Amino acid sequence: MSSRAPIAVLAAALAFSGCTGSDAPGTTAPAATAGTSTTVGTTEPPPVTSTIPQGVHAGEGLGDTLFPKAGNEGYDVQSVDLELDFTEVFETGRFSGVVTLRIDPLVALDSFVIDAGDLSLSDVSVDDESAAFATDSSQVRIDPVPVLVPGTVSVVRVVYSGSVPTDRAFRPGTGGIVRDESLVFSIGEPEGSTTWMPGNDHPTDKAPYAIAVTVPTGMEAAAGGLLVSTLTEGPSTTFFFEHRLPVATYLVPFAVGELTRVDRSAEGYAWRDYLGPGVAEAAVLGRQDEMIRYFEQFLGPYPFEANGALVVDRDFWGALETQTLSTYETNAVRGFVVAHEIAHQWVGNSVSVADWSDIWLNEGFATYLQWMWVDHDGGVSLDEAVAEAHARMRSTGPGWGPGEPPAADMFNRMVYDGGALTLHALRAEIGDESFFEVLERWVTDFAFSSASTADLVALAEEVSGSGLGDLFDDWLFGDLPDLP
Ligand SMILES: [Zn+2]
Repeated sequence: MSSRAPIAVLAAALAFSGCTGSDAPGTTAPAATAGTSTTVGTTEPPPVTSTIPQGVHAGEGLGDTLFPKAGNEGYDVQSVDLELDFTEVFETGRFSGVVTLRIDPLVALDSFVIDAGDLSLSDVSVDDESAAFATDSSQVRIDPVPVLVPGTVSVVRVVYSGSVPTDRAFRPGTGGIVRDESLVFSIGEPEGSTTWMPGNDHPTDKAPYAIAVTVPTGMEAAAGGLLVSTLTEGPSTTFFFEHRLPVATYLVPFAVGELTRVDRSAEGYAWRDYLGPGVAEAAVLGRQDEMIRYFEQFLGPYPFEANGALVVDRDFWGALETQTLSTYETNAVRGFVVAHEIAHQWVGNSVSVADWSDIWLNEGFATYLQWMWVDHDGGVSLDEAVAEAHARMRSTGPGWGPGEPPAADMFNRMVYDGGALTLHALRAEIGDESFFEVLERWVTDFAFSSASTADLVALAEEVSGSGLGDLFDDWLFGDLPDLP
């Protein structure tokens, strides 16, 4: 994400005392009793029903530090098929969908939860059997029969519908879906994707997606990954997309409406840009491949099957690195922002945060790489960018370090500038050779998964052979240190 302007300092008023849990999916569920049999008495054979596995009611939320209820324990999503019908949305404001989640239970499950925002569910089945479900706030508890067991992938199919408001106001840290007379688009970070698709809404549970979007013929659907085919049947046209590499829910790009698709060519990936109604093509969009090649020198091969830009002439708060198709408002289509979002494809999208409190890992790396690009491109030098950011944080910083953002202010500039300064301090401490080895190892060792601040500290210590805990503590928590 890239925001246009510093965010108001709300920390004092909104300081958030989150829980400390950041457990991996499923680790907090009670031990399962799958397959155990109970013997009643000493002479009677066990009742037949005792061979039916007994499972747990997996609880709500993964215990994320900033968003404890985000995501769900007890299972891991293996793949997602999404069929969306947006043919009526510009007349009625409504749409419908079917999402099919292939899930791998991590424990035996009597019931489990999916995140569904305020979507209306009309039918749920598990392995082709109708399943009871109950909605509680933004979550839906599903009771499969029989119990789901680890080692056997189950297919959860949810039929749903929803509405797209015209009056949603975006601000950093809020997402959702919005429409006007000619465009629908969504912003997922951190918890906006469930306004249009149910799922396991946390960056630790990624999966490949196949997405089919039906729109009125003459309109376009924009999504990420590969555009594999289109099918026009009279008044409606369906676009079929495939994210073949895993993507987190908040990073799934989506728009429909009067979009102009610009197909370009690049070596090794598909390049599509989409321009929303009234958006002119900006020259900087033609430089995306050049930016990818620049970053490849430090980060290795571009990780995904596609890249491009979706530009909308609508306010949100700048740009979001939606995977393989970054979303920009027109004011944000500038070289440094485009470089920032492209850097995120490695840092944030391929390597995602293990906990939302680690957001500095996304924004600090992307900001530092953005500074490197701008320097390379003849703009502000890296040293100047470092000095300016340090001075800015000294005068306008929120009073907390980049490693401890409150949920309500998680996209404060401190997370960006302070995060990048932390990396610069690391570089000064361990030297260029070790620093760039850490950078490359970070995006290689944790590719297509999630990682934490502790993972970065351990990697940097391994590469450099130095103890670095104090350095990270000083830069991530508390008062901003002097520049090295
Ligand atoms: Zn960003």
